[in-house]
Amino acid sequence: MDAVWDVAIVGAGVAGLSAARELRHAGRSVLVLDKGSRVGGRVSTRAVGGARFDTGAQFFTALAPEFVAAVEAAHHDGAVAHWYDRAPRRDGHRNLAVWRGADGNAALPRWLADSLVDADEVAIHTGVRVTSVAQDGGRYRLTADAPDLPDVHARSVLLTPPVPQALELLAPSFESTATAELAEFTYHPCLALLVGLSEFPVGVFNEHGFRRPDSPAIEWIADNVTKGVSTAAEDVAAALTVHSSATFAVEHLSHDDSSVIDAMSDALRSVMSGTGIRDSRDAGRVQLKRWRYARPVEFCADRYAEVAPRLLMAGDTFAGPRVEGAFLSGLNAARRLIAEAVS
Ligand SMILES: Cc1cc2nc3c(=O)[nH]c(=O)nc-3n(C[C@H](O)[C@H](O)[C@H](O)COP(=O)(O)OP(=O)(O)OC[C@H]3O[C@@H](n4cnc5c(N)ncnc54)[C@H](O)[C@@H]3O)c2cc1C
Repeated sequence: MDAVWDVAIVGAGVAGLSAARELRHAGRSVLVLDKGSRVGGRVSTRAVGGARFDTGAQFFTALAPEFVAAVEAAHHDGAVAHWYDRAPRRDGHRNLAVWRGADGNAALPRWLADSLVDADEVAIHTGVRVTSVAQDGGRYRLTADAPDLPDVHARSVLLTPPVPQALELLAPSFESTATAELAEFTYHPCLALLVGLSEFPVGVFNEHGFRRPDSPAIEWIADNVTKGVSTAAEDVAAALTVHSSATFAVEHLSHDDSSVIDAMSDALRSVMSGTGIRDSRDAGRVQLKRWRYARPVEFCADRYAEVAPRLLMAGDTFAGPRVEGAFLSGLNAARRLIAEAVS
């Protein structure tokens, strides 16, 4: 491909897609590349057997007008649904709607991507891992591990993977104070166990279908059936997403799947004791998803980072460790690139 794109975006998570949308509105040509098989990144829904599980982000909230507008438009199109309202906080904060994807949270990034497919000047390629970004004259050249995709040339680049992964892509010539500061950013990992139960565990969840147990190993359990993401089937009465604590994930990340599943099953069994479920493995299908970079430990007050002229980094590290933060970071980085091209 000899074309020079206005902007090449690495990552089709919420930050990358939000940026692509804004750039498209401003008439820019945009190429989005993601190594995953689907768009969404850490907003991911997996089908296992007859059940559906949100594996990463469990819900999203919207406060900033730009994200509220996007969520309301997605709601209007049937891509997202209201899950429940958060109780008012003691500080008097108003009730906050808690949203979920209509058939799992991946519906939100899918909706963002679908709103781009009609645009001639936008392309999204999944299953393409970018391996390097280098300067090439006054432009940037991206190399990917996809045999069918020749090097990509772009006037501007936006990197949206978690910061350590984004830094790995940069040629040594980009080393600067900015990259040294970015190299300090770290992330909490999380291990997600997906469990299909043939029997509903009575007394485990609140009315909305989740629980934050008092457990050193498990931070969150949600039933995707009660949540409305998965339908119940004959052999699936409950479809649990079980998120480990960060401490547990740090201790177990390097262990093989079978020992992680055993350890999480033990922890789950103690959380669910008295519910009739003896062991997640007794109960049905079990899968494990590893999130090495689940959530940023520290985050940056700036909405994006400028690594070099027209080479930016965005993502939840820059505007808050949430879906909304990722959306706003992508949006602001796109606006910066748009302003740069105009000035
Ligand atoms: C377990 C878990 C629970 C969470 N719970 C919540 C929650 O309840 N509510 C909430 O608001 N937020 C939650 N979050 C956080 C939320 O998911 C993130 O803040 C948000 O999705 C980050 O989006 P992003 O676009 O910044 O990054 P990502 O979603 O990580 O997107 C980056 C993309 O870059 C791609 N990529 C990486 N390297 C390359 C490469 N070399 N080449 C091509 N592509 C590449 C990845 O495949 C990925 O798709 C949770 C996250 C996790 C993991």
